[in-house]
Amino acid sequence: MDYQKILEEIAEEVKPLLHKGKVADYIPALSEVDPEHFAFSITLSDGTQYHVGDSQTLFSIQSISKVFTFILSLKAYGTHMYDRIGVEPSGNPFNSLVQLEYEHGKPRNPFINAGAVNVTDALVSHYGSCEITISEVLRFIRSIADDESIDFSDRVAASEMEHGFRNMALANLMKSFNNFDNCVEEVVKTYFKHCAIEMNTDMLSRAMLFLSNYGKDPINGKTYITPQQVKRVNAVMLTCGHYDASGDFAFHVGLPGKSGVGGGIVAVIPDVMGIAVWSPGLNAQGNSLVGTKALELFTTKTGLSIF
Ligand code: GLN
Repeated sequence: MDYQKILEEIAEEVKPLLHKGKVADYIPALSEVDPEHFAFSITLSDGTQYHVGDSQTLFSIQSISKVFTFILSLKAYGTHMYDRIGVEPSGNPFNSLVQLEYEHGKPRNPFINAGAVNVTDALVSHYGSCEITISEVLRFIRSIADDESIDFSDRVAASEMEHGFRNMALANLMKSFNNFDNCVEEVVKTYFKHCAIEMNTDMLSRAMLFLSNYGKDPINGKTYITPQQVKRVNAVMLTCGHYDASGDFAFHVGLPGKSGVGGGIVAVIPDVMGIAVWSPGLNAQGNSLVGTKALELFTTKTGLSIF
């Protein structure tokens, strides 16, 4: 298959849509990003990489980090994690509070904000401090992406903390139901730091490779998680990775994937490749508008969806 040609075709076809989405502005530091950016990278199991557009430009991975923290929590707690978070799609916006109230402080899944803040809290308990938690999250991401330069942006994390009332509210509500161990403010700050990690699509598509290969990185040979855990992570990406547009993403794209409000989306084709796409303009559900379309074109042109 001529992947390079396919990526170039897609870049041309999505051009007219580039100004249609809306860049996230509830985090002021993110609102400055140029909406015209577009990048699409794939990394095959043998390490071959294809890319088009701004695949070297770093962006804020935001909720894509929730995949990595969920994985670390499974490594730390195994199936006990499911005592504190569920695995059902929420059908609600990513930052919604409503279900937490009538589900007694147990978040629906690890990929909505409530679930991810809860996962961060579990990691802080496991590692013993917020400082160690963020450095372990970075260590893990640097390993799977094979890139030691990866870091978070202090500026983006601080900007989000200044406006972080909703995430503080989610954490406080979970604390009131005894489903939260540590200091709310410190955990939420740590959550914002891992959301503020900056990567490009080349790095992210490389980082997804172990999830397309039963938990073992086919290039460096390291085993990160078990095949059973990969099955769970990919299943939750498919069913919950795009909030209240998860069904729509499965319907149009047909791959396990996870989005972030920075405009990035990662996806996995089991046995074949890791994928990352970036375009900062978002649709109404907070997922990259052009990114979603580009992935739909990719699975249509290649015939490579999990269905
Ligand atoms: N840091 C963002 C928040 O908590 C992440 C949201 C997202 O990417 N959907 O609101």
